[in-house]
Amino acid sequence: MYLQVLFGCALVGFFRGVGATMIGRREFFTVISGAALATAAPRISSGQEYRPFAWPHGERAAVSLTYDDGLDSQLEYAVPALDRLGWKATFFLTEENMEKQVDRWRAVAREGHEIGDHTLHHHCRLAGYSTKRFVREEIAPTERFLNAYFGVRRRTFAYPCGTIELGAGGQREGEERYIDALRPVFTAARAADGDPNDPRLVGRQRYQLQAIAPTYDRDDPQLAIDYLRKALGWGRWAILIFHDVVPTRLGDGDTSVTSHDRILGWIAQTPLWCAPMGEVFSHLTGSVQ
Ligand SMILES: [Zn+2]
Repeated sequence: MYLQVLFGCALVGFFRGVGATMIGRREFFTVISGAALATAAPRISSGQEYRPFAWPHGERAAVSLTYDDGLDSQLEYAVPALDRLGWKATFFLTEENMEKQVDRWRAVAREGHEIGDHTLHHHCRLAGYSTKRFVREEIAPTERFLNAYFGVRRRTFAYPCGTIELGAGGQREGEERYIDALRPVFTAARAADGDPNDPRLVGRQRYQLQAIAPTYDRDDPQLAIDYLRKALGWGRWAILIFHDVVPTRLGDGDTSVTSHDRILGWIAQTPLWCAPMGEVFSHLTGSVQ
Protein backbone atom coordinates (compact mmCIF):
# COMPACT_ATOMS: atom_id res chain seq x y z
CA MET A 1 0.00 0.00 0.00
CA TYR A 2 2.87 2.34 0.80
CA LEU A 3 4.20 2.05 -2.72
CA GLN A 4 0.77 2.64 -4.19
CA VAL A 5 0.35 5.82 -2.18
CA LEU A 6 3.83 6.98 -3.07
CA PHE A 7 3.48 6.36 -6.78
CA GLY A 8 -0.21 7.02 -7.27
CA CYS A 9 -1.77 4.25 -9.32
CA ALA A 10 1.48 2.81 -10.50
CA LEU A 11 3.43 -0.17 -9.37
CA VAL A 12 6.33 -1.68 -11.20
CA GLY A 13 4.53 -3.02 -14.19
CA PHE A 14 4.59 -4.26 -17.66
CA PHE A 15 3.59 -3.04 -21.05
CA ARG A 16 2.35 -5.18 -23.84
CA GLY A 17 1.54 -4.32 -27.41
CA VAL A 18 -1.89 -2.96 -28.17
CA GLY A 19 -4.55 -5.26 -29.51
CA ALA A 20 -7.03 -4.16 -32.12
CA THR A 21 -10.67 -4.06 -31.05
CA MET A 22 -13.64 -2.94 -33.08
CA ILE A 23 -16.62 -1.53 -31.26
CA GLY A 24 -19.83 0.15 -32.21
CA ARG A 25 -20.84 3.79 -32.11
CA ARG A 26 -23.75 4.93 -29.97
CA GLU A 27 -25.79 8.06 -29.90
CA PHE A 28 -23.89 9.81 -27.16
CA PHE A 29 -20.57 8.13 -26.68
CA THR A 30 -18.26 7.79 -29.62
CA VAL A 31 -15.40 5.50 -28.86
CA ILE A 32 -12.19 4.99 -30.68
CA SER A 33 -11.97 2.43 -33.44
CA GLY A 34 -9.68 -0.55 -33.49
CA ALA A 35 -7.66 1.09 -36.23
CA ALA A 36 -6.91 3.94 -33.89
CA LEU A 37 -5.39 1.56 -31.36
CA ALA A 38 -2.09 1.26 -33.20
CA THR A 39 1.07 0.96 -31.14
CA ALA A 40 3.16 3.27 -33.27
CA ALA A 41 3.91 6.59 -31.62
CA PRO A 42 2.36 9.55 -33.41
CA ARG A 43 4.64 11.89 -35.34
CA ILE A 44 4.53 15.62 -34.94
CA SER A 45 4.12 17.68 -38.08
CA SER A 46 7.84 18.20 -38.66
CA GLY A 47 8.25 14.42 -38.95
CA GLN A 48 10.35 14.20 -35.78
CA GLU A 49 9.72 11.36 -33.34
CA TYR A 50 7.41 12.18 -30.47
CA ARG A 51 9.48 12.73 -27.30
CA PRO A 52 8.19 11.26 -24.03
CA PHE A 53 6.58 13.71 -21.64
CA ALA A 54 7.95 13.82 -18.09
CA TRP A 55 5.19 12.64 -15.76
CA PRO A 56 5.39 12.78 -11.94
CA HIS A 57 7.18 10.01 -10.03
CA GLY A 58 8.75 8.70 -13.22
CA GLU A 59 5.41 7.43 -14.53
CA ARG A 60 4.93 6.93 -18.26
CA ALA A 61 1.41 8.29 -18.70
CA ALA A 62 -1.60 9.41 -16.69
CA VAL A 63 -5.16 8.29 -16.11
CA SER A 64 -8.11 10.04 -14.49
CA LEU A 65 -11.06 7.92 -13.44
CA THR A 66 -14.27 9.94 -13.72
CA TYR A 67 -17.77 8.98 -12.57
CA ASP A 68 -20.82 10.82 -13.85
CA ASP A 69 -24.24 11.78 -12.59
CA GLY A 70 -23.82 11.44 -8.80
CA LEU A 71 -25.27 7.93 -8.72
CA ASP A 72 -25.84 6.03 -5.48
CA SER A 73 -24.05 2.94 -6.85
CA GLN A 74 -20.86 4.99 -7.07
CA LEU A 75 -21.07 5.58 -3.32
CA GLU A 76 -21.79 1.90 -2.72
CA TYR A 77 -19.23 0.30 -5.03
CA ALA A 78 -16.89 2.70 -6.83
CA VAL A 79 -15.74 4.76 -3.84
CA PRO A 80 -14.93 1.69 -1.70
CA ALA A 81 -12.99 0.13 -4.61
CA LEU A 82 -10.97 3.34 -4.99
CA ASP A 83 -10.47 3.58 -1.23
CA ARG A 84 -9.07 0.06 -1.09
CA LEU A 85 -6.33 1.16 -3.47
CA GLY A 86 -5.86 4.59 -1.92
CA TRP A 87 -6.73 6.30 -5.22
CA LYS A 88 -8.62 9.53 -5.85
CA ALA A 89 -11.07 10.09 -8.68
CA THR A 90 -13.39 12.74 -10.10
CA PHE A 91 -17.15 12.66 -9.56
CA PHE A 92 -19.26 14.85 -11.83
CA LEU A 93 -22.44 15.56 -9.95
CA THR A 94 -25.85 16.66 -11.09
CA GLU A 95 -27.70 18.33 -8.28
CA GLU A 96 -30.96 16.47 -8.87
CA ASN A 97 -29.36 13.04 -8.48
CA MET A 98 -27.27 13.61 -5.44
CA GLU A 99 -28.99 16.17 -3.26
CA LYS A 100 -30.53 13.45 -1.04
CA GLN A 101 -27.06 11.99 -0.47
CA VAL A 102 -25.24 15.26 -0.04
CA ASP A 103 -23.71 14.29 3.32
CA ARG A 104 -22.19 11.14 1.82
CA TRP A 105 -20.84 13.11 -1.15
CA ARG A 106 -19.33 15.65 1.22
CA ALA A 107 -17.56 12.80 2.98
CA VAL A 108 -16.25 11.62 -0.40
CA ALA A 109 -14.92 15.12 -1.08
CA ARG A 110 -13.28 15.27 2.34
CA GLU A 111 -11.41 12.06 1.49
CA GLY A 112 -9.72 13.95 -1.36
CA HIS A 113 -11.88 12.98 -4.32
CA GLU A 114 -12.66 15.76 -6.79
CA ILE A 115 -16.22 17.03 -7.19
CA GLY A 116 -17.03 18.39 -10.65
CA ASP A 117 -20.07 20.03 -12.23
CA HIS A 118 -22.41 18.11 -14.57
CA THR A 119 -25.21 20.74 -14.78
CA LEU A 120 -28.49 21.02 -12.95
CA HIS A 121 -30.81 18.96 -15.16
CA HIS A 122 -28.46 16.98 -17.40
CA HIS A 123 -30.21 17.99 -20.61
CA CYS A 124 -28.87 16.30 -23.72
CA ARG A 125 -30.57 18.41 -26.38
CA LEU A 126 -29.36 21.98 -26.19
CA ALA A 127 -30.40 23.55 -29.49
CA GLY A 128 -32.80 25.91 -27.73
CA TYR A 129 -30.20 27.48 -25.46
CA SER A 130 -28.23 30.69 -25.73
CA THR A 131 -24.98 30.97 -23.77
CA LYS A 132 -26.68 33.31 -21.32
CA ARG A 133 -29.68 31.07 -20.74
CA PHE A 134 -27.51 27.97 -20.26
CA VAL A 135 -25.38 29.75 -17.68
CA ARG A 136 -28.45 31.10 -15.89
CA GLU A 137 -30.44 27.85 -15.83
CA GLU A 138 -27.86 25.06 -15.73
CA ILE A 139 -24.46 26.29 -14.57
CA ALA A 140 -25.08 29.11 -12.08
CA PRO A 141 -27.53 27.19 -9.85
CA THR A 142 -25.34 24.09 -9.83
CA GLU A 143 -22.28 26.13 -8.93
CA ARG A 144 -24.18 27.84 -6.13
CA PHE A 145 -25.17 24.43 -4.81
CA LEU A 146 -21.67 22.96 -5.12
CA ASN A 147 -20.06 26.06 -3.62
CA ALA A 148 -22.40 25.84 -0.63
CA TYR A 149 -21.67 22.18 0.08
CA PHE A 150 -18.15 21.67 -1.25
CA GLY A 151 -16.53 25.08 -0.92
CA VAL A 152 -15.99 27.91 -3.38
CA ARG A 153 -13.48 27.04 -6.11
CA ARG A 154 -13.01 26.74 -9.84
CA ARG A 155 -14.05 23.23 -10.79
CA THR A 156 -13.90 20.96 -13.77
CA PHE A 157 -16.98 20.27 -15.89
CA ALA A 158 -18.27 17.27 -17.86
CA TYR A 159 -20.61 17.74 -20.83
CA PRO A 160 -23.86 15.84 -20.18
CA CYS A 161 -24.46 13.17 -22.85
CA GLY A 162 -21.24 14.22 -24.54
CA THR A 163 -23.19 17.01 -26.28
CA ILE A 164 -20.64 19.75 -26.97
CA GLU A 165 -22.77 22.14 -29.04
CA LEU A 166 -25.04 24.77 -27.57
CA GLY A 167 -27.79 26.53 -29.48
CA ALA A 168 -28.80 26.31 -33.10
CA GLY A 169 -26.64 26.76 -36.17
CA GLY A 170 -23.32 25.34 -37.25
CA GLN A 171 -21.16 22.95 -35.28
CA ARG A 172 -18.30 25.37 -34.74
CA GLU A 173 -20.61 28.15 -33.55
CA GLY A 174 -22.35 25.71 -31.22
CA GLU A 175 -19.08 24.55 -29.70
CA GLU A 176 -17.84 28.12 -29.26
CA ARG A 177 -21.14 29.10 -27.66
CA TYR A 178 -20.79 26.26 -25.13
CA ILE A 179 -17.15 27.10 -24.38
CA ASP A 180 -18.15 30.74 -23.86
CA ALA A 181 -20.49 29.50 -21.15
CA LEU A 182 -17.79 27.36 -19.50
CA ARG A 183 -14.72 29.60 -19.71
CA PRO A 184 -15.59 32.11 -16.95
CA VAL A 185 -16.43 29.38 -14.44
CA PHE A 186 -14.39 26.21 -15.03
CA THR A 187 -10.72 25.29 -15.31
CA ALA A 188 -11.36 22.52 -17.83
CA ALA A 189 -14.11 20.41 -19.36
CA ARG A 190 -14.34 16.77 -20.36
CA ALA A 191 -16.02 15.73 -23.58
CA ALA A 192 -16.89 12.08 -24.28
CA ASP A 193 -14.78 10.87 -27.16
CA GLY A 194 -11.31 10.80 -28.61
CA ASP A 195 -7.81 9.50 -28.03
CA PRO A 196 -5.89 10.01 -24.80
CA ASN A 197 -4.88 13.67 -24.45
CA ASP A 198 -1.53 14.98 -25.62
CA PRO A 199 -0.06 16.73 -22.54
CA ARG A 200 1.36 19.48 -24.75
CA LEU A 201 -2.06 20.36 -26.14
CA VAL A 202 -4.09 20.17 -22.94
CA GLY A 203 -3.90 23.91 -22.27
CA ARG A 204 -5.35 24.70 -25.70
CA GLN A 205 -7.95 21.92 -25.53
CA ARG A 206 -8.89 22.52 -21.91
CA TYR A 207 -12.61 22.87 -22.63
CA GLN A 208 -12.77 19.79 -24.84
CA LEU A 209 -10.59 17.22 -23.10
CA GLN A 210 -10.96 13.82 -24.71
CA ALA A 211 -12.21 10.72 -22.93
CA ILE A 212 -14.05 7.46 -23.48
CA ALA A 213 -16.76 5.55 -21.63
CA PRO A 214 -15.17 2.15 -22.18
CA THR A 215 -17.89 -0.01 -20.66
CA TYR A 216 -20.90 1.97 -21.86
CA ASP A 217 -21.82 -0.41 -24.68
CA ARG A 218 -20.35 -3.62 -23.34
CA ASP A 219 -19.43 -4.73 -19.87
CA ASP A 220 -15.94 -5.74 -20.88
CA PRO A 221 -12.73 -4.27 -19.48
CA GLN A 222 -10.79 -4.86 -22.70
CA LEU A 223 -11.59 -1.53 -24.38
CA ALA A 224 -10.40 0.36 -21.32
CA ILE A 225 -7.22 -1.70 -21.23
CA ASP A 226 -6.55 -1.12 -24.94
CA TYR A 227 -7.12 2.61 -24.47
CA LEU A 228 -4.80 2.74 -21.46
CA ARG A 229 -2.12 0.82 -23.36
CA LYS A 230 -2.35 3.46 -26.01
CA ALA A 231 -1.89 6.21 -23.39
CA LEU A 232 1.13 4.35 -22.03
CA GLY A 233 2.63 3.88 -25.48
CA TRP A 234 2.21 7.53 -26.35
CA GLY A 235 2.90 9.04 -22.93
CA ARG A 236 -0.54 10.63 -22.83
CA TRP A 237 -3.37 11.37 -20.40
CA ALA A 238 -6.31 8.97 -20.51
CA ILE A 239 -9.65 9.92 -19.02
CA LEU A 240 -12.16 7.12 -18.42
CA ILE A 241 -15.88 7.71 -17.88
CA PHE A 242 -18.09 5.47 -15.75
CA HIS A 243 -21.73 5.68 -14.73
CA ASP A 244 -23.40 3.08 -12.50
CA VAL A 245 -21.02 0.55 -10.98
CA VAL A 246 -23.19 -2.38 -9.94
CA PRO A 247 -22.90 -6.07 -9.05
CA THR A 248 -24.84 -7.06 -12.20
CA ARG A 249 -25.11 -4.96 -15.34
CA LEU A 250 -28.74 -4.20 -16.16
CA GLY A 251 -28.31 -2.07 -19.27
CA ASP A 252 -26.23 0.39 -21.30
CA GLY A 253 -23.92 2.48 -19.22
CA ASP A 254 -23.66 0.04 -16.30
CA THR A 255 -20.25 -1.29 -15.35
CA SER A 256 -20.18 -4.50 -13.34
CA VAL A 257 -18.12 -4.49 -10.17
CA THR A 258 -16.07 -7.30 -11.74
CA SER A 259 -15.14 -5.24 -14.83
CA HIS A 260 -14.50 -2.16 -12.72
CA ASP A 261 -12.18 -4.16 -10.44
CA ARG A 262 -10.36 -5.63 -13.43
CA ILE A 263 -9.73 -2.18 -14.93
CA LEU A 264 -8.46 -0.81 -11.62
CA GLY A 265 -6.38 -3.93 -11.08
CA TRP A 266 -4.80 -3.58 -14.51
CA ILE A 267 -3.93 0.06 -13.83
CA ALA A 268 -2.32 -0.94 -10.53
CA GLN A 269 0.24 -3.02 -12.42
CA THR A 270 1.30 -0.30 -14.85
CA PRO A 271 3.38 2.88 -14.63
CA LEU A 272 0.32 5.11 -14.90
CA TRP A 273 -0.07 8.20 -12.73
CA CYS A 274 -3.66 8.05 -11.46
CA ALA A 275 -5.08 11.34 -10.24
CA PRO A 276 -8.32 13.34 -10.44
CA MET A 277 -8.90 15.31 -13.62
CA GLY A 278 -8.37 18.70 -12.01
CA GLU A 279 -5.08 17.60 -10.47
CA VAL A 280 -3.64 16.28 -13.72
CA PHE A 281 -4.83 19.38 -15.56
CA SER A 282 -3.29 21.62 -12.93
CA HIS A 283 -0.01 19.72 -13.16
CA LEU A 284 0.09 20.03 -16.95
CA THR A 285 -0.81 23.70 -17.17
CA GLY A 286 0.61 25.08 -13.93
CA SER A 287 -2.82 26.38 -13.00
CA VAL A 288 -3.90 26.49 -9.38
CA GLN A 289 -6.89 24.34 -8.45
ZN1 LIG B 1 -24.07 12.37 -17.35
